[in-house]
Amino acid sequence: MKIISKVNNNGEYPKQYICTGKGNDGFGCGSTLEITKEDLYKTSHTDYTGDTAYFTTFMCINCGVETDIDARIHDLPNKQTWLNRKRALEDNDKEVIKNSIIQLLKNSEVPVTGLEIVKRLTDDQTIAKNIRDTLRDLVTTGEVYIGLDWHVKISKTSNLSQD
Ligand SMILES: [Zn+2]
Repeated sequence: MKIISKVNNNGEYPKQYICTGKGNDGFGCGSTLEITKEDLYKTSHTDYTGDTAYFTTFMCINCGVETDIDARIHDLPNKQTWLNRKRALEDNDKEVIKNSIIQLLKNSEVPVTGLEIVKRLTDDQTIAKNIRDTLRDLVTTGEVYIGLDWHVKISKTSNLSQD
C-alpha cells in the first residue's frame, strides 16, 4: 500500500480508497490510499441481535484505522491470518520466528520434529516457509540440532539453553 493523491477508479485493483474508518467507528485520517488485493481481509461484525455481517476491510498504513469497503472478493484471509502474514513479511520476521521456535522448544512437554514445529506455529504457507528457513539457519549455526527420530533439540552449548 502507498499513499497517493490522484484519483483513478477504473474498477480493477490496485484501486484508490480514502481512509474514512467507515464501519469501524469512523475517524479515518482522510488519506487517499492505493489498495491491492493483498491489502484486503475479511472482518465480521455481530450486532445486538446476534446477526453477523461480513465485510471487506483494509487498514490504513498512515493511521492504522480500518475502513470497510463495498467489494465482494473471494478467498480473502481473515484479519488474524492477514496480520500474521504481514508480520512475517516484515524485516524483523526472522527474529520473531526464531523466538517462537525457541519458546516452543523450551515449553513443549514432548519432543517435536521440525515438521511438528511448523504445524504448531502456523497454518499459513508463507509463514511455514519462513519457519522452515529459520529452523535450517538455527541448525546451521549450531543453536539447535536434530536428534533421534528427527526431534529438534536446543544445543547444550547454545546460549539459548540458558534461562
Ligand atoms: Zn488513515
